[in-house]
Amino acid sequence: MEEAVKVLIIGSGPAGYTAAIYTSRANLAPVLYEGIEPGGQLTTTTDVENFPGYPDGVTGPDLMDRMRRQAERFGADIRTGTITRVDLASRPFHVVVDGTREIKAETLIIATGASAKYLGLPSETKFRGQGVSACATCDGFFYRKKDVAVVGGGDTACEEASYLASLCRKVYMIVRKPHLRASKAMQQRVFDTPNIEVLFEHNTAEVLGDESGVTGALLRRNDGTERKIDISGFFLAIGHHPNTELFSEQLALDAEGYVKVEPGTSKASVEGVFAAGDVRDPHYRQAITAAASGCIAALDCERFLLK
Ligand code: NDP
Repeated sequence: MEEAVKVLIIGSGPAGYTAAIYTSRANLAPVLYEGIEPGGQLTTTTDVENFPGYPDGVTGPDLMDRMRRQAERFGADIRTGTITRVDLASRPFHVVVDGTREIKAETLIIATGASAKYLGLPSETKFRGQGVSACATCDGFFYRKKDVAVVGGGDTACEEASYLASLCRKVYMIVRKPHLRASKAMQQRVFDTPNIEVLFEHNTAEVLGDESGVTGALLRRNDGTERKIDISGFFLAIGHHPNTELFSEQLALDAEGYVKVEPGTSKASVEGVFAAGDVRDPHYRQAITAAASGCIAALDCERFLLK
């Protein structure tokens, strides 16, 4: 086993990379494990137009690549691998990578982000990757000139529906309430797009398909009546859950599973553990807020190590 590292960062989105930039510039020689989705959720988006400093916008993968290179420039040790177990009972913490390699860490910055939620229908699981997707910007291209559906009524659903509408023939939005939850501007964009049809008060009873993949969906209205739509793609946009399974028995989490931190700080319930980004933030979930909380975690971590 190698010497205990001073700072181990888990996760490679804006929070993780920003923490790596700050801790490497503070000479703390951070080690960052990228996890199963290097670059995090932003690598699945196209244009990012609201990250300050990019007046003409930047693509999600490009932004993540720049953050990664910035961290590497100051000596951050960025490694491929997924943390499969952590033991936070005593410091240095024991961490297992890919089920085999062990590493010790004096402090831990958790920046594992959040993952898309699914409805939980067996038919949805069956056709995952064969028409069922939780990322329109990743997979929308495969459904050019076809009919698709997006489930959800939040900003993500509206954004994904708008994106798909630019590629597909028709986009149904399946919304369980009689109204959308998204911001007024996003709602207007949806209502102004002629090839988006919003189906209010509809739930998905079943995703339909055959050996070729998804062919339709059986919808149930809130009044109990049913309706079938013919679609080739079924996109989920119903929110995310935090990636905290690794820590569930060891750290205080809120009812939704997000890491609880001391208010105004990034400090988790175990000394020496800090949380940054979407894994601790169910509200804002922006690249810029994740980056800011990565900075806060790095500064908290640095102060902790100086003590
Ligand atoms: P939200 O939690 O805001 O919305 C989730 C949507 O999915 C809601 O309409 C919800 O319905 C619906 N939903 C949840 N579970 C189910 C289910 N089992 N069956 C059917 N529908 C379901 O998540 P988002 O991912 O849209 O947004 C998360 C945060 O990120 C928000 O704060 C949002 O504003 C922000 N965001 C901002 C963007 C921007 O500014 N450009 C872009 C994307 C996200 P119900 O309303 O009935 O609960």
